[in-house]
Amino acid sequence: MTIPDYDLIVIGAGPAGLSAAAEAARAGLRTLCLDKLAPGGQLINLGELQEVEDTCEGPDMAARLTDEATVAGVEIGFGEVTALAGPDPWTVETAEGERRTARAVVIATGLDKGKLGVANEADYEGRGLSHCAHCDGPLYAGLPVVVAGAEGWARYEAEELAALAGKLTIVDASAVAGAPGIPRINGRIVALDGKGDGLQSVTVESDKGREVLPASAVFVYVGQSPAAEFVPDSLARDAAGHIVADADGRTSAATVFAVGDVRAGTRRLLADAIADGQSAGRAVVAILRKS
Ligand SMILES: Cc1cc2nc3c(=O)[nH]c(=O)nc-3n(C[C@H](O)[C@H](O)[C@H](O)COP(=O)(O)OP(=O)(O)OC[C@H]3O[C@@H](n4cnc5c(N)ncnc54)[C@H](O)[C@@H]3O)c2cc1C
Repeated sequence: MTIPDYDLIVIGAGPAGLSAAAEAARAGLRTLCLDKLAPGGQLINLGELQEVEDTCEGPDMAARLTDEATVAGVEIGFGEVTALAGPDPWTVETAEGERRTARAVVIATGLDKGKLGVANEADYEGRGLSHCAHCDGPLYAGLPVVVAGAEGWARYEAEELAALAGKLTIVDASAVAGAPGIPRINGRIVALDGKGDGLQSVTVESDKGREVLPASAVFVYVGQSPAAEFVPDSLARDAAGHIVADADGRTSAATVFAVGDVRAGTRRLLADAIADGQSAGRAVVAILRKS
């Protein structure tokens, strides 16, 4: 049999993937960690992190995790994974036309950017639609802004934007309270309207009917789904498409692991993503030593 290129390929270099890769490389496994963007995952887009032990900015944490992985011996590569087939060995294909093989795979691809689900959404991506208060918030200082979503991290993003925007409104259809002091409409955005270069208003549908709100930007934190289009159908998923795996990341395939936000049942916290990655890294080492 041909020797695989790597012992382990980790798909996604966010906090979960980098932590899994570092753990495996420290134990001597030949480890490649691939990402379609720069390493760091969501952390790249965040300012001061919440729910962490020490005060830290997202990009600093991303740099720390990337350094730890590199020092451990992880090869960090660029590539958008489009197909995964195997086992013995697993073959990973990228949109850039590369193929790499490995004895084991860790899937750590997190969640896709959220979607409103309106017809002309793609036209406004980057021209009024954003997913990152820290990066894009200052572009809309003093202007009317809408945050779509009130659950989870959307609340912190809304609080960051409230300090900048001329008028901020949260639009969300769930029963979640949202951020104190920020006006909220219990409904959903059904249309985006603008002229020339960018967004000017959104149409919101609620039980009071439809209303048009002036909006130079919408920050979208609804409609996120697992980034797992390339994952073979043979791997068990939950109803929303998250990969089903145990606490050590073991999926329904013996040598494929899933960690971080892409795994079913996680709390979507940085600390959990790191812990998930570390556990799976150790589990990969144990399973490959036995085989
Ligand atoms: C707006 C927001 C604010 C947050 N704030 C906090 C906070 O303050 N504190 C906290 O504890 N948590 C916070 N979180 C949660 C935390 O960021 C996530 O739980 C954590 O980043 C998950 O790590 P991950 O490695 O699973 O996924 P991610 O960080 O999403 O990383 C996934 C990586 O996979 C890559 N990828 C995806 N698909 C492919 C593919 N096909 N091929 C190759 N690479 C691919 C992506 O480019 C990305 O780099 C926040 C999340 C959001 C959305």
